[in-house]
Amino acid sequence: MAGNGFRFPKMDFPADVEELRHDVRGFLRAERANGGFTPIADCWGSGLSTEFSRKLGQRGYLAVTWPKQYGGQEKTMLHRYVITEELVSAGAPVAAHWVADRQSGPLILRYGTEEQKQSILPRIAGGECYFAIGMSEPGSGSDLASVRTSAKKVDGGWVINGAKIWSSNAHICHYMIALVRTSPIVDGQKHKGLSQFLVDLSTPGITIRGIKNIANESHFNETLFQDVFVPDDTMLGNEGDGWKQVTSELAIERAGPERFLSTTIILEEAVRAMQDTADDRIKLAFGQLVARLRTLRRMSLGVSALLQEGSSPETEAALVKEVGTRFEREIIEGVRSVAPSAPKTQGMSAYHATLREGILHIPSSTIRGGTNEVLKGIVARQLGLR
Ligand SMILES: Cc1cc2nc3c(=O)[nH]c(=O)nc-3n(C[C@H](O)[C@H](O)[C@H](O)COP(=O)(O)OP(=O)(O)OC[C@H]3O[C@@H](n4cnc5c(N)ncnc54)[C@H](O)[C@@H]3O)c2cc1C
Repeated sequence: MAGNGFRFPKMDFPADVEELRHDVRGFLRAERANGGFTPIADCWGSGLSTEFSRKLGQRGYLAVTWPKQYGGQEKTMLHRYVITEELVSAGAPVAAHWVADRQSGPLILRYGTEEQKQSILPRIAGGECYFAIGMSEPGSGSDLASVRTSAKKVDGGWVINGAKIWSSNAHICHYMIALVRTSPIVDGQKHKGLSQFLVDLSTPGITIRGIKNIANESHFNETLFQDVFVPDDTMLGNEGDGWKQVTSELAIERAGPERFLSTTIILEEAVRAMQDTADDRIKLAFGQLVARLRTLRRMSLGVSALLQEGSSPETEAALVKEVGTRFEREIIEGVRSVAPSAPKTQGMSAYHATLREGILHIPSSTIRGGTNEVLKGIVARQLGLR
């Protein structure tokens, strides 16, 4: 797309990237055949298996673009892209390490001290160290700069008080990168005076309480901080730079192909279940969904190309996430419209099981990582409409 400042550069897959895809596919096929996992929709949000995460680390599928000295593979964004694409579209259980590999590690690489990098990054690369996102609070979501959790300076460190909410998988995480207020708001300038901390979640004073979702599962949590002492060396980046840092974290968080692939496993299982159909209505519905999928993929690859060249494609990523998460819902509506299914609790086929997961989990995809209304606002600004 050209004009209005949007760019989606074309990217071709070199031979070694295709080889990597082949390798990942082979691994996933073997794991699935051995009972290593059962595919689920929304696998990167709710498919928790620390054992599987470790296996990915051992195979070099994590920390793909990071320097070797921190456990990385020194490969390109395109290598990372195909690994992500294969894992998510296969419905593999990748939620344990997802945040750490996708955004916390890159944030530490960019802003962390040498000691922070050396002590944490190799463990993330090994699939053994997990991170929670400490942004939202009761009363602060879209308006993130209004966070009220505060850190007060004391001898040798800081004392944190407050509450974070919707902290995905914090109950199995080792750290949270928490956005907190380190100095009061002056003249209404709420984007100033914020900082980020690398908080060890086993620190005394932290309570993590599960919040049940509609599927009766507790993937996200309330994380309460009561007089939590964190040493000076746990600050990430510079005091007062929290807003700049969290904005770059959000750009990474929104940029990946998982933002449109969370339900493609349902489409795949539906096609498999109905492959012998003679019903043109079904063929048409599947064809339309696949055509949209290809367009989104082309745009999403453009975002990866921009990241690879060192740009910060905040607007392009917002656009792909907005269209992509709506598409995730449309897959569910599309397959249900041609192949209605009654809810079952037992004896479900892979199609029914993934569809059930999708119906219960996907309503959240247009909220998490920034709501679609907020993303449309970002796109509108780029178009000069606001
Ligand atoms: C499954 C899931 C996992 C999550 N995981 C995490 C996590 O790990 N860590 C974390 O910190 N947070 C997490 N979140 C929280 C998520 O980031 C917030 O829910 C989201 O940013 C919206 O904030 P809010 O819920 O406070 O809603 P609000 O910001 O109160 O929004 C309410 C409504 O108002 C609309 N609105 C708000 N502002 C505007 C505006 N400027 N223009 C137009 N409309 C607007 C919104 O679109 C929405 O419809 C998660 C959420 C979900 C659903």
